[in-house]
Amino acid sequence: ARVDNPYEGAQLYVNEDWSRQAAESGGEAIADEPTAVWLDRIAAIESGSAGENTMGLRDHLDAALEQGADALQMVTYNLPGRDCAALASQGELGPDEIDKYKNEFIDPIAEILSDSKYADLRIINVVEIDSLPNLITNVGSRETATENCDEMLANGNYVEGVGYALATFGDIENVYNYIDIGHHGWIGWDDNFSATAELLYEASNTAGATVDDVAGFAANTANYGATVEPYFSIDDTVGGKSIREGSSWVDWNRYVDEQSFAQAFREEAVSVGFNSDVGVIIDTSRNGWGGPDRPTGPASKDGTADEYVDGSRIDRRIHLGNWCNQAGAGLGERPTASPATGIDAYAWIKPPGESDGTGEDIPNDEGKSPDGMCDPDYEGNPRNQNNPSGALPNAPVSGHWFQAQFEELLENAYPPV
Ligand code: BGC
Repeated sequence: ARVDNPYEGAQLYVNEDWSRQAAESGGEAIADEPTAVWLDRIAAIESGSAGENTMGLRDHLDAALEQGADALQMVTYNLPGRDCAALASQGELGPDEIDKYKNEFIDPIAEILSDSKYADLRIINVVEIDSLPNLITNVGSRETATENCDEMLANGNYVEGVGYALATFGDIENVYNYIDIGHHGWIGWDDNFSATAELLYEASNTAGATVDDVAGFAANTANYGATVEPYFSIDDTVGGKSIREGSSWVDWNRYVDEQSFAQAFREEAVSVGFNSDVGVIIDTSRNGWGGPDRPTGPASKDGTADEYVDGSRIDRRIHLGNWCNQAGAGLGERPTASPATGIDAYAWIKPPGESDGTGEDIPNDEGKSPDGMCDPDYEGNPRNQNNPSGALPNAPVSGHWFQAQFEELLENAYPPV
């Protein structure tokens, strides 16, 4: 039988592919931290995810046994028409290739995970980053809609694919599925919040899945939202007015950080029909926001709400919708089990040092394209309310090693390394 929280009391697998790269790149001090294994294409099952990674899934599982680990974290990320609202991580499968996704991606992974020699290893599986949230916010009559997301909503293949993954892995007793829920600066608005919980519930009842196949949810995966904003809160007022109204950073959002969002989303999910013991993982790999620009206390409330919030927030991004290789970011909380109510773990899901994407036209056979959001000179789009991207320059294709970013993440780590 499954335990309530697979992180509790568990020694986590240290991804040997990432650990080697981190150690060779000046990150000796953190190279023993556990990071997730990304299955980001069919070839990753045999020979490793994008970039300098070379280990297949069995290599990782065998290495986990050798380490004496109790749990291994992985991400399944290869839906048909992947990354419908952006270009940086579009994948190998076309919008209609749902059969290929099932037969050549999910089934072979399930076959490996079912091997009895791995039966005592808890497999923590983060399911398909960004996919279902994109079907809420980037479709239809919304200004943020994209053709690709409209297509993936209409053809049903995100919902079908997520359902199939949950159902298939859910049959394996030692697998724990966590469905991606984006982050507070995306799903934290009223228009998106309950609708996302309902769509996740629908997907969890598709293709043979049930809510018993769902251990919980994953927030902030590969994103930069602060776990906790220590110097201001959503209940603050300036000049008698809520910062929800007064601050353009908050802009009517219900949450100012990932942990409050994750806890509230968990409650919402239970209220729409998920099991009451679901938990949330928060990806803290790159949301530390230390370094010289980190505020050391709240700003004065004598000025405007914008001055108060912008002077108080540790998240130094230009806009909450910015997601690519953010300048100024640092490593966040080191992986920790059960850090707060309803939170199964702070975990390093995105391997720090791996790029989010590139603004340049770099040939690759992974389906990835130049993305303005990864170009520091880009002026934005409706999804970041037409703000500059805030991205570091000269990044490689997503998933490939980005040394300059890795160095900055180390320098701006909080807690410091
Ligand atoms: C990329 C994947 C990569 C993952 C982890 C994603 O943005 O598209 O190829 O495996 O990041 O770095």
